[in-house]
Amino acid sequence: MSNPTQLPLQKQSKEEILAIMRAAKTDDIGWREGKVFSLVFHAGEEASAVIKEAYTMFMSENGLNPGAFPSLKKFESEVVSISANLLGGDDAVVGNMTSGGTESILMAVYTAREWARAHFPADHPKCVAPEIVAPLSVHPAFEKAAHYFGLQVVHVPLAADYRADVAQMRAAVTPATVLMVGSAPAYPHGLIDPIRPLAQIAAEAGILFHVDACVGGFLLPFVRRLGYEIPDFDFAVPGVTSISADLHKYAYAAKGASVILYRNKELRRHQLFAYMDWPGGIYASPTMSGTRPGGAIAAAWAILNFMGEEGYLEIAQRVMATSQRLQAGIAELKDIYVIGRPQATIFALASDTLNIFEVGDEMQARGWHLDRQQFPNSLHVTLNQAHIDKGEQFLHDLAQALALVKKPSLRNWAERLLVKLAAWLAKVLPASWMSWLTEKAAEAMGGEGGVPERSAAMYGIMGSLPNRGDLQAVVLDLVEGFTAVENEKRP
Ligand SMILES: *Cc1c(COP(=O)(O)O)cnc(C)c1O
Repeated sequence: MSNPTQLPLQKQSKEEILAIMRAAKTDDIGWREGKVFSLVFHAGEEASAVIKEAYTMFMSENGLNPGAFPSLKKFESEVVSISANLLGGDDAVVGNMTSGGTESILMAVYTAREWARAHFPADHPKCVAPEIVAPLSVHPAFEKAAHYFGLQVVHVPLAADYRADVAQMRAAVTPATVLMVGSAPAYPHGLIDPIRPLAQIAAEAGILFHVDACVGGFLLPFVRRLGYEIPDFDFAVPGVTSISADLHKYAYAAKGASVILYRNKELRRHQLFAYMDWPGGIYASPTMSGTRPGGAIAAAWAILNFMGEEGYLEIAQRVMATSQRLQAGIAELKDIYVIGRPQATIFALASDTLNIFEVGDEMQARGWHLDRQQFPNSLHVTLNQAHIDKGEQFLHDLAQALALVKKPSLRNWAERLLVKLAAWLAKVLPASWMSWLTEKAAEAMGGEGGVPERSAAMYGIMGSLPNRGDLQAVVLDLVEGFTAVENEKRP
């Protein structure tokens, strides 16, 4: 094989190329085994085949121009309608498909800013320095949107039950607030914020209220229909003005599919973009992206119709049973607990007595990939169809992991010493040295941008950095590293 960083001079055969790609895949996380959480939502081989065929059937079509592709227009508007109906919407609710939760949230925040500009004078605080009031647990996409569009997120500390604190959220509203946000559920702990009282505060303040149902939007309606207690979180709640819901999560669509929904078309109007003076013609587009992949739109439509309410209920029932079995099993274990009272299939594990990241490392050694979280330190579990029937193995491995972390061992001792040493160094070394050292530690433990084998020490060191800005620089360095062009290989 020639230099892989150069465009090959000659054409290559399909067989050669597919072989390289198959080989490249062997180091990827094996999500089909049901030991990976939150990155992949898998509804089984039959459903996979449906979205694959639907996706490839429309992979060249472009959702940018609905006039040219009435097929995609039909799929998108039906996906939006189905979503609105699932989420308590009436006939007035409108929306669009986007490439994912982040784009849906970007649109909601942009719309709130434009709504304020349309309704308040330019020197009003809502226009000069617009603010979003959101609980600490809200997804970083809101921070990203505020960063992109020039707003400020006011992060409100969580209540003792780890949900949004209604009184503090109320107190955080100022004349500059344009948007309040609650999650159903929030990603970190899987807890549903008290949407009804929050939306009421927003309505009384005359501001917009967004429900981030990115992860819960295609789960909670079915969990509720099964008879589980789910608090009101959707358009049935007065004051809710927009909702985001990701099809590529619990609707089990192909990646690149989400919806952003608005209470009415007057609100959605602020999201739309049109430019009249381009030599290329009049240009209009509803969302962030220009060209929109027809495959993602078609696959989302296909999976909703393939599953139907029946299919989603069946999966929800079995995933909920797995979730309850796991939570009951965890309640019987010492040194570990579930944070708060999660009502669906997402939860976080914490410990007051052990380093939970060491438990994460032991689980990793047994093939389980649990995301590490902070404030408090915890491990994240998002159950989906792929985890049905994996409960007993998870509990068995977790009990083993806990026992190992509790037992004194040379490795545990060395890792803890490393963290202590880093904390001590952080006090005595200049900040720039610490950045460098942390970067080296991250490199050593993270390998070549893959999943770190053992990360408890790395997280311990990261956590001990005195300056969050410093930590941000290290993280940005790592992000740069993931996509670095391999110049040194060029002649
Ligand atoms: C996944 C998620 C998002 C972001 O969605 P992407 O599809 O990753 O862009 C936003 N909010 C919540 C609660 C999520 O779980």
